[in-house]
Amino acid sequence: MENQTSLDPRSHGAGTLAVHAGTYNDPITGAVGTPVFASTTFLFQPESYEAFDQGMIRDYPIYSRYGNPSQWAVQEKIAALEHAESAIVFSSGMAAISATLLALTNRGGHIVTARDIYGGSYNLMREDMHQFGRSVSFVDPTDAAGIEAAIQENTELLFFETLTNPLLKLAPVRELGEMAARHNLFLVLDNTFLSPCCLTPIDHGAHVVIHSGTKYLNGHSDLVAGCAAGSRKYMDMVWGQMLKLGGSLNPQDCSLLERSMKTLSLRMKAHCEGARELAHWLAAHPAIARVHHPDLPGYPYPWAADLLVKGAGGMVSFEMKGGDRAGLKLMSALTLVQAATSLGGVESLISMPFNTSHSSLIERQRREIGINPGLMRLSVGIEDVADLKADFTQALATIGDINE
Ligand SMILES: *Cc1c(COP(=O)(O)O)cnc(C)c1O
Repeated sequence: MENQTSLDPRSHGAGTLAVHAGTYNDPITGAVGTPVFASTTFLFQPESYEAFDQGMIRDYPIYSRYGNPSQWAVQEKIAALEHAESAIVFSSGMAAISATLLALTNRGGHIVTARDIYGGSYNLMREDMHQFGRSVSFVDPTDAAGIEAAIQENTELLFFETLTNPLLKLAPVRELGEMAARHNLFLVLDNTFLSPCCLTPIDHGAHVVIHSGTKYLNGHSDLVAGCAAGSRKYMDMVWGQMLKLGGSLNPQDCSLLERSMKTLSLRMKAHCEGARELAHWLAAHPAIARVHHPDLPGYPYPWAADLLVKGAGGMVSFEMKGGDRAGLKLMSALTLVQAATSLGGVESLISMPFNTSHSSLIERQRREIGINPGLMRLSVGIEDVADLKADFTQALATIGDINE
């Protein structure tokens, strides 16, 4: 849109893009920030009819499910940060995922994905995609050879998470990009756990990048939103699907997301630094058996050195020596770190997969994917790390000699 701040994403840093990219420059008032366009509909102009005539209603203010200047502003910010041509915001991460998968596949098509994906995405893949005539194969998301072996004649799309929940497995993103190109497949990556400040998958060959904007992009645990970013051509397809499924984002939430994203780069630096420091500190604690974080020695995915040069995000997971009982005790003893699901907010949150995200599996199935008793998932906020360590020190001291 002509009234939007447009910056070349390749010659500006993420901090600058986060602040400026996409801002709507109001020609009447000169407002420094994007106004909230809380209007469902817009006066017909000669250009409105032209837009209908040319099928360009995505780009002209007509009706807010088709598009609204508050959406366009935050969409441009997301696109710039992800090094994408275009982006679309949705009412949730799941709305973005379901619209993208349906837009880019066809009846009779096949999708390759992993069991190591967000629970909602896994349920959509397992319970619903076949109802729409798409078959799905589940593979190890870190095994490029295994992924390639699962590709069939009718495969249309590869769907993975760049960094997985809760064990922080890193997808071999560059190899996946090459594989998608070789087999002429869509590569769709959910980049929620890393944010564009740590990794821009489009630079490595991904066609579409998805976020639960609920997590790091918004970052304040007060908004549910999602987005997809990619080339204009593919985003037009996803937009067309969004019109039918209906998961558009309202202007007030667009404004809140845009405002929150201005500090994304700053917040991610604090999340990454805090998580890295806590991961090393937890790894040295006698009550803890094991810590999962890309910066620790023994992290099993060597491509991290190439992919995670800007940071590894704010997540850490670790196993209590005393198993689930010790984990539950730890959660109730922490005072600064709060026990709740979700992630990516300024406040540190802790949860256990066994009684939340992975409660539908039996213990044997959990162990098979590496979720051992006592596994904790920690979303490191932006508090002072010394205070987080102090909270863990006092809480871990209450555990005593609980053994598995
Ligand atoms: C939370 C999450 C989602 C779903 O996002 P909602 O905004 O809750 O719909 C998808 N993928 C990942 C990796 C998530 O963490």
